[in-house]
Amino acid sequence: MEILRTVNEVRQWVQAQRVAGRAIHFVPTMGYFHEGHLSLMRRAKADGGAVIVSIFVNPLQFGANEDLDRYPRDFERDRQMAESVGVEAIFYPDMAEMYPSGYQTEVRVKELSKPLCGKSRPGHFEGVATVVLKLFNIVTPNRAYFGMKDYQQLRVIQQLVRDMNLPIEIVPCPIVREPDGLAMSSRNVYLTPEERRAATVLYRSLQWAQAQVESGERDAQKLRAGVLERIAAEPRARIDYVEVVDAETLLPVERIERPTLIALAVFFGRARLIDNCVVAI
Ligand code: AMP
Repeated sequence: MEILRTVNEVRQWVQAQRVAGRAIHFVPTMGYFHEGHLSLMRRAKADGGAVIVSIFVNPLQFGANEDLDRYPRDFERDRQMAESVGVEAIFYPDMAEMYPSGYQTEVRVKELSKPLCGKSRPGHFEGVATVVLKLFNIVTPNRAYFGMKDYQQLRVIQQLVRDMNLPIEIVPCPIVREPDGLAMSSRNVYLTPEERRAATVLYRSLQWAQAQVESGERDAQKLRAGVLERIAAEPRARIDYVEVVDAETLLPVERIERPTLIALAVFFGRARLIDNCVVAI
């Protein structure tokens, strides 16, 4: 497996793959891999391309009081895990390679960046859209793989690709969960054992909502209130938001009549966890 540290090294590697007639399948990440990341890599591999993964903890998408400095990192472990699932190259740039001094351009997906996590993390999705557009221009993938765990991020990237006419197929991948339902996240390492147990309330609440819809509930406010109530009953949970929105526009809905996203962000101690489910009728 190749470890590529510079834009030029990536371009040369990609060129060699293309000459060999291979498609480029790309998985952008911030590293500290878990089964969620590996599921994207396996899917990229199964789809038949040369798989390249990027590892870059992007400062542009972190707010001033967020966890940029303590975000978990372990390159050697990541390297081994990626290799074990057949990844052929890792793009592992440093800060200066991505944002050399004098860097000044940002891109913004205007409406999809506003609700949900955009409200509590101003500037976050501008940081995401900017780094992903840069990575797409560096790697020039045929396909790129994104987890539905970060549903709003996925929608922002889909819109970016459409608006900027990027010739890239975005492949959404399902959320990978721990056996007790907690969505896998690099940030789960922040949880104390008590917080880790308490955090299972998130998936249970989403499952409750899903079951309600399956048994005919169509009132978005009732679903939202029910999820809020269940999470609020867990004393270690501090709710950032629970929202019931259109799965495409991410705007609030009153009734469940189309594919609808139930999305939440909740703090447990220092960890801010997100989770969601899409209910279709
Ligand atoms: P991150 O390293 O957290 O930026 O995540 C990199 C990619 O992995 C993103 O597309 C995420 O949506 C995806 N991902 C993270 N956690 C999960 C999960 N539990 N299940 C599926 N995909 C995930």
